[in-house]
Amino acid sequence: MNEDWDFETRAVRAGTRRSGFGEHAEALFLTSSFVFDSAAQAAERFANSGDHFVYSRFSNPTVAMFQDRLAALEDAEACIATSSGMSAIFTTCIGLLNAGDHLIASRSIFGATVQLFNTILARFGIETTYVDPTDPSSWAAAMRDNTKLLYVETPSNPTAEIADIAALKQIASSRGALLVVDNCFCTPALQRPIALGADLVIHSATKFLDGQGRVMGGAVLGKLDLIRDRLMPVLRTSGPSLSPFNAWVLLKGLETLALRMEKQSANALALAHWLEAHPQVSRVLYPGLDSHPQAELVKKQQSAGGAVVSFEVADRETAWRIVDGCNLISITANLGDTRSTITHPATTTHGRLAPEARTAAGIGDGMLRVAVGLENVADVQRDLSNGLGG
Ligand SMILES: *Cc1c(COP(=O)(O)O)cnc(C)c1O
Repeated sequence: MNEDWDFETRAVRAGTRRSGFGEHAEALFLTSSFVFDSAAQAAERFANSGDHFVYSRFSNPTVAMFQDRLAALEDAEACIATSSGMSAIFTTCIGLLNAGDHLIASRSIFGATVQLFNTILARFGIETTYVDPTDPSSWAAAMRDNTKLLYVETPSNPTAEIADIAALKQIASSRGALLVVDNCFCTPALQRPIALGADLVIHSATKFLDGQGRVMGGAVLGKLDLIRDRLMPVLRTSGPSLSPFNAWVLLKGLETLALRMEKQSANALALAHWLEAHPQVSRVLYPGLDSHPQAELVKKQQSAGGAVVSFEVADRETAWRIVDGCNLISITANLGDTRSTITHPATTTHGRLAPEARTAAGIGDGMLRVAVGLENVADVQRDLSNGLGG
């Protein structure tokens, strides 16, 4: 890769490797294994696969192209791709933590991540403390001698709280812990956590990296020694590998990432302004608004607000009426698609939280979350008006 290439150019070009056929688009290598010229070469490649390919559980050219391109976009030394976002998170935890270790996580992270920490990691003697993402002092206060990892999503879902990545890095490194940032909502098009101090960045590639709701995928990025020595052995021996087909689809997704994030952020901002002015809407939570309580920090960390807008109406009945009035917007909890989606967090994604925990996380019965796609935003507004009125 040419080091001078700007983001958009990397998104289209970085990581490309051509086979002897000289294909222009990336080739899709649907092969489980690779052949060797001799016994000696097989032995040598098994001992150190280096830049050669052996077996697609841990090395495949199409997957390698995806890893290299995403690493170029996140300014990371290395990347491993995984079968899903959850397997990226699991691989990271199993690679970095031992029984008896302690983990600090933001209290507003993806629901399945909470389940992973509370039910699976707990069985292996790894304890998790949840803290306020917006208050670095609560992270500092939760630090123990055995704290190995700080885990955060910013902005948070669905309440758009922002964590100060540089401040969390200071707290982590003052005690020899690592900072892991799930960059799913912003993608490297809007936020580069490694440049802000994160040791590792995690992606659910299922969301904006694909961007078109087609395939599952995940990735972990960061320093070469962490990826190669701590995470790669887990991937290689336990096998949550990204399929070459999905890697090929994701390579195509990355080519339009900058364009999509820019346009979807612009659509989301327009929707957020429209909702703010609507008499039935009591509050709009969107990082791109000047009214966001952490607007200064947003400007420091993100180049745009992203595609996810949450807002509050009077009560659950009003919220459900808006959802049921949607003819265009899809009623689904997925996000990061060209199609706009709507969800009622209190009864879906966050429905299994105890009511007190939901209140603490700021998720009221009247809250709705819209992940804005690429439709014309006027059509999205009209669709919400069916149930919202006005
Ligand atoms: C969806 C999501 C995940 C999990 O990713 P999958 O690809 O569904 O396994 C993790 N973190 C965040 C923030 C997500 O939105």
